[in-house]
Amino acid sequence: MKVSGIVLLSVMSFLSVAKQGLLVKNVTLISPELEMVQENRNVLIVDDRIIDNNVRIVEEEKYRHVIDGSDQFLVPGIMDSHVHVSSIPGMGFGGEKHVVENTELAMQYFTQQPKSFLYHGVTHVVDPNPGKHWSEFVSGEIHPDYFRCEVITSKETFPYIEKMPEIADEIFSYLVQENTAVDDKNSPESLVTKIANSGAVCIKLYFENGYGDSNQWPLLSPATLKRIKTAAVKNNLMILAHANAIDMYQAALNAKVDMLAHGLWNWGKYSRNQQLPNEMLTLLNEVKSKDIGFMATQRVIAGLGEVMLPETKHNSAFLKTTPKALLNWYKTPAAQWFTKELIAGFDGLSSEKIAEIFLYGRTRKNQQVITYLDSVHHPMLIASDFPGSPSYANQPGLTTYQEMQMLAQAGISLKGVLAAATINNAKQFNLADDYGSVENGKVANLLLLNENPLKTIEAWDAIDKIILRGKVHARDDLRANKPVH
Ligand SMILES: [Zn+2]
Repeated sequence: MKVSGIVLLSVMSFLSVAKQGLLVKNVTLISPELEMVQENRNVLIVDDRIIDNNVRIVEEEKYRHVIDGSDQFLVPGIMDSHVHVSSIPGMGFGGEKHVVENTELAMQYFTQQPKSFLYHGVTHVVDPNPGKHWSEFVSGEIHPDYFRCEVITSKETFPYIEKMPEIADEIFSYLVQENTAVDDKNSPESLVTKIANSGAVCIKLYFENGYGDSNQWPLLSPATLKRIKTAAVKNNLMILAHANAIDMYQAALNAKVDMLAHGLWNWGKYSRNQQLPNEMLTLLNEVKSKDIGFMATQRVIAGLGEVMLPETKHNSAFLKTTPKALLNWYKTPAAQWFTKELIAGFDGLSSEKIAEIFLYGRTRKNQQVITYLDSVHHPMLIASDFPGSPSYANQPGLTTYQEMQMLAQAGISLKGVLAAATINNAKQFNLADDYGSVENGKVANLLLLNENPLKTIEAWDAIDKIILRGKVHARDDLRANKPVH
């Protein structure tokens, strides 16, 4: 305590000689660790850190920049712990057919994308399948803080096996060879070390033996999974598992993963008053007791349903997030390739029926899972899996906000949604020293809202300013298709 007091004093005496820092004055502070909202707070930010979230005596002339936060709410920036910045809504991953055929549209999209996240208050993200195009995301003038997991897969397993080899080779850099010696360059141990050295924070593994009821793809062998886990622990890397069916969840839990990248929507038949079957309760209790991170990713399913509805391509909210040229492309016949694939996958079922299966059947099944885990106090995480599929129904930043809305619809309290979007994600990824609350010493990624997020979920769309690493941005400066005056 003594040391930090001296540090603080020396910072303050330095401030008295040179104007420094940003002061947000008279603001209502809302942060997940606080029992109650704190009115009339003055929060000092110097460079990219919160220095003092409770300045008692305000001498405005000391600060380089003062914002009057009267009638506003200062909250931590949103963390979305599951986004894919290399995948373009409606097109797919960089390298795939529609991206290659429309490079100009793709470039416009990649330039706008980081700003669209920030427009919606998303100031830090985790990307669990960064491909080879993530460097474009972080090379822009302004972007959310970016963390990534790297995928370990093999040529025999999903998702590599589902793609054309030349495209799969473009996307996946860490292809494991099973039954190899430890020092082989493609052994589990060598790949995990390489991932740790690349600066990634976690490893993503896929537990997927086929969509829906099919099971044509093998999984990595238990022996390989065990070697990956042992090496991951040694290198301080967490393991995030793609799984969204009961048997795949079980396989992931058996492999001792740290997090599940999706909710559970592939089970039983939905009926309004259906109870969760016993095997589900057993599984979810295991998730709870082993403290496994749970990402609901409701927007994956919602995005698959909404893409089947003709009105989706005219959604006016997309104008704020997505270049107009790409929005126009969504209206062309060429852009309907993914809906055609979905219809073929459902043996020619009508678009309306497919939309209903996703929007009412599967999202509600997953909603029951969310509600159950919340009832046993398992922490929720905001993890949208944007864009989740090549559906153009999900757009950057907006999808995160919609995921928050869907958690609220599932019965998560507004305080719970606040925690899910901030401190829960930070803790889950061992980033809580830097992120997740408006506490002294943390990175100044903050939002100034015009409404109280503990009163209405819509407050998360009533953003006035975005503070990114201590720099203030007006929301409208970040939107796509700025109106010309
Ligand atoms: Zn994903």
